[in-house]
Amino acid sequence: MALELIRNPSLSERTTLGLGGTAEVELVVHETGDLDELAAFLSRGTLRPFVIGRGSNLLVRDGHLDLALIRTATPPGPTRVEREGDRFIVRCGAAQRLPGLLGWAEKAGFSGLENLTGIPGTVGGAVAMNAGSYGTSFGDVVTRVRLWSPGQGLSWVDAADCVFSYRNFACPAHPGKSLVWEVELALTETSPKEVRASMRATYEKKQATQPVTARSAGCVFKNPEGKAAGMLLDNAGMRGMRLGHMAFSDLHANFLVNLGGGTPAQALELLDMAKSAVREKYGITLETEVILL
Ligand SMILES: Cc1cc2nc3c(=O)[nH]c(=O)nc-3n(C[C@H](O)[C@H](O)[C@H](O)COP(=O)(O)OP(=O)(O)OC[C@H]3O[C@@H](n4cnc5c(N)ncnc54)[C@H](O)[C@@H]3O)c2cc1C
Repeated sequence: MALELIRNPSLSERTTLGLGGTAEVELVVHETGDLDELAAFLSRGTLRPFVIGRGSNLLVRDGHLDLALIRTATPPGPTRVEREGDRFIVRCGAAQRLPGLLGWAEKAGFSGLENLTGIPGTVGGAVAMNAGSYGTSFGDVVTRVRLWSPGQGLSWVDAADCVFSYRNFACPAHPGKSLVWEVELALTETSPKEVRASMRATYEKKQATQPVTARSAGCVFKNPEGKAAGMLLDNAGMRGMRLGHMAFSDLHANFLVNLGGGTPAQALELLDMAKSAVREKYGITLETEVILL
């Protein structure tokens, strides 16, 4: 199949916040054979390339953006590759959604991902953001990543040669932004029952403290060193703060929620208000975790 080109893709339809205008094009990469065509398209250099997964960590402006969205499709897997002692190596395509991967791991009785229950992104997005919760980061279970960049082509890189840090990923062998094509993870065999119980406990904990079914992008600010951004926002009076149809959640002050009909302008103004309130109260400048486009 050739590289698929979609004109004027809607970003509000491609993001969990449901906000944003249109991009110029979306390039859907179905198989490795499409990557040369992608490189040729990008070499024209007229548009800003942006790799998009589930759009669950994006806050996109209104209007028409000079972006070429790049999306991988047809995730092969997850599949078991081999056994290494008590661990199984599992291979998974970047477009695979995390909830689907976790469902597969639960059925197989593979442990390691339970704390990530409730994160709606793709495997590619989980690598790029080093997504994490309750002390587990996606990078903790990754053994190698297959990356593509126009200069370097497609290659497997060991996790040891990558840098997974707080909500960030970098790979010196592919400098700059690269496309995650697929990953291998090391998971430990336990039993479906144990994995299910642990995933359920994580979900229940999140359900009690986070607006899990609302239109959001998860936490919008990173935790500053040694502090929880949610606590700082709460103490600075941002919990439940509403502007138009956007609001900081009543349940968790670091979740910005689209109540229906919210706009990017309202969202951005709320982010500014929150940063000012925290700076004034604590002298701390919060950094956004959500990616602004
Ligand atoms: C209800 C809710 C709960 C959440 N809970 C958490 C949480 O507990 N912990 C947490 O860390 N996050 C959480 N998030 C945020 C989000 O789900 C994660 O950051 C997730 O990893 C983003 O994946 P995505 O596929 O949606 O990426 P996108 O939002 O589409 O993109 C995010 C970044 O990843 C890059 N990217 C995406 N796919 C690829 C790829 N194939 N190759 C290279 N780069 C790529 C993009 O270029 C962008 O820089 C939550 C979000 C929601 C809506």
